[in-house]
Amino acid sequence: MRFILLIDMDYFFVACEELKDPSLKDKPAAVTTGSDREGSKGVIMTCNYPARKFGVRSGISANQALGMCKDLVLLKEDFKFYEEKSAQVASIIRKYSNLAEQVSIDESFVDISDKVSTYEQGVKYAEAIKRDIRSLSGLPCSIGIGPNKLIAKMACDVAKPDGIRLVRQEEAKSFLSIMPVDKLYGIGGKTAEKLSFIGIKTAAQLAASNKMQLIEKFGIFGLEIYNTANGIDDSDVVSDYETKSIGRERTLKKDSNDDGEIIPVIKELSKEVFKEAKSQGFSFKVITIKIRYADFTEHLKSRTVKTSNSAEDIERVASEMYMKYRTQTMKIRKLGVRISGLTKIKSQRSMSEFFS
Ligand SMILES: [Mg+2]
Repeated sequence: MRFILLIDMDYFFVACEELKDPSLKDKPAAVTTGSDREGSKGVIMTCNYPARKFGVRSGISANQALGMCKDLVLLKEDFKFYEEKSAQVASIIRKYSNLAEQVSIDESFVDISDKVSTYEQGVKYAEAIKRDIRSLSGLPCSIGIGPNKLIAKMACDVAKPDGIRLVRQEEAKSFLSIMPVDKLYGIGGKTAEKLSFIGIKTAAQLAASNKMQLIEKFGIFGLEIYNTANGIDDSDVVSDYETKSIGRERTLKKDSNDDGEIIPVIKELSKEVFKEAKSQGFSFKVITIKIRYADFTEHLKSRTVKTSNSAEDIERVASEMYMKYRTQTMKIRKLGVRISGLTKIKSQRSMSEFFS
């Protein structure tokens, strides 16, 4: 049983600005970028909730936003400060779990499966992290809890602002079913438009649709959106606590979906990666394969293993992931194998280092 959190800071950039100037709290305010260009007030990056009441949102021009709300306070972005606050939040999160994956400046997935054993404990854990983030950094956040990254992300969206939302495995499908497809994680407006042409508007319709037809229409992405609508996501939270990785990639001589050609390439890449890890004295915990299809879409899949330093583990897990995620309909152009979560098996320092 997995317990995954998605911690997402609320209106992050403006919340950071409110720390510098607390009087902003009750006013509609927005952070802009690109305001240096002549005659331009820039584009809205983030706005606070008072501004959202007027219809202001990220991505629109500052002029358009002022048209909606003439008292809107415009603030120029201060990335250095936001990055400082982001690093502070990341260090608070790491006190609770090393298995944290920061996916953007204000969002992190956290795997707490080895910390709690029930959903109720998971909620308590999330409450503690949320309280700590608020008291130590001064910033509000929302947390989604679920059995996988996808559900945690979707749960967090409805928890906003300043909330915690739990969606259990058994609730996942019905929780998603009422959502329009463009609200599903990873499905954008363009895909939603194409789906609506074939009569699919809600997640429930997508979940009940023909999987093969989706793959024909969208390639491997079709399989991903089908799984998304069904609440299925077995991707791991990959810790960026230790971000170093060792990887090798190869472009196939010609595009192929023949396992007889591809598996040997994966084995060869695995051997090369292992050789490099051995020469540097590393063991590893995470194995990732990268598949780039002929249409240039790229898919990364990772799996965490017990700490290992065997070539066979890389070969076996990489091949298994390939067999699991490959599709018969799309040809592959390029393959990659990577290991991460590295730790030094023994010190590689030699005495000569100290004398040089
Ligand atoms: Mg956010």
